[in-house]
Amino acid sequence: MGKVTAYYMKRLDVTIRAAIRKSLYLPEDVAIGFFHAAVRDGGLGVPRQAGFIPHLRLRRLLRSRASSVALVVACATRAMVDCQINWCRARLADVPRPESADGLKSYWARLWHDAVDGADLSHIAESGVSTDWVRRPSPFMRGGNFVNYSWVRAIALCSRMRIDRGRRGGRDIMFRAVCQMAETAVHMIQRCFRTHGDRILRHDCIVKAVGNSLTEMGWTVHYERVYHTPAGPRKPDITAVRGTRAHLNKVAKYRDEARLTDTIIAERRAGRDGSAARVAADGVVYVTVTVSWRGVLGSDSMRSLEDLGVDRRTLRRIPIMALKGSYLN
Ligand SMILES: [Zn+2]
Repeated sequence: MGKVTAYYMKRLDVTIRAAIRKSLYLPEDVAIGFFHAAVRDGGLGVPRQAGFIPHLRLRRLLRSRASSVALVVACATRAMVDCQINWCRARLADVPRPESADGLKSYWARLWHDAVDGADLSHIAESGVSTDWVRRPSPFMRGGNFVNYSWVRAIALCSRMRIDRGRRGGRDIMFRAVCQMAETAVHMIQRCFRTHGDRILRHDCIVKAVGNSLTEMGWTVHYERVYHTPAGPRKPDITAVRGTRAHLNKVAKYRDEARLTDTIIAERRAGRDGSAARVAADGVVYVTVTVSWRGVLGSDSMRSLEDLGVDRRTLRRIPIMALKGSYLN
């Protein structure tokens, strides 16, 4: 409740963001939402003082007015307190429901997900394991890796398109791999035929991790076994058998801007036609593991893997493997 000014809070925010940029080696133009969005929303979860301080003050003053002690209510309804409440509301003019604890969080989540770089992360809150490495980094994770994964999350990777952002004209923005495409992070990591081999390696790493975890849980695991069906040959990445139950796992290739839930539904529909429907009637369950190149595990995939008994440690490793693969690409 100390005396602070809007200017002081603004200066404080600029200093804090500059310190984070320096320690994570982030470029100047990373969207502001990345710093202030909650960790569960794909940001770093650093409170913005210019909004957080008025928010705390507003909540405390409004709570005082609802106090059971008459003297507190009498003090909290004075004109001076009205003036303070108006000051707080003016600082939070952009925030809907500024007195609610979730108001600020949802405001920053929207700001980050509305930005071009944050749009792919709009579903991240649905799968908690995708942000575990930010909230509780493993003691074995090196600081350098944390920096690298943060670059992938914020799309702060050094591509020609990124360097040229906001100052178009005259520069060469074509990919240095000479494939006549603009050099964007999505193209380099996700689409270019020259990085196809590395994408397969990432894919195989995740298949292996899921397979090992299923083996530990007592499943008999077969990799890439071919099934000849009336609809043509089918080759799921993992076939896990336990007793009379069988699960076919397909690790979906990394998506870029696709919405994760849509992807999973589409995969499932594809699995239902022809032979799959017939096999499904025999007690076979299809599961997809969909993870984006920015380390977002689909919430549906997470639940399916948990149902199969895949341990939390492996689930946490999947987004990290995706991020590591994307960075090394
Ligand atoms: Zn290319």
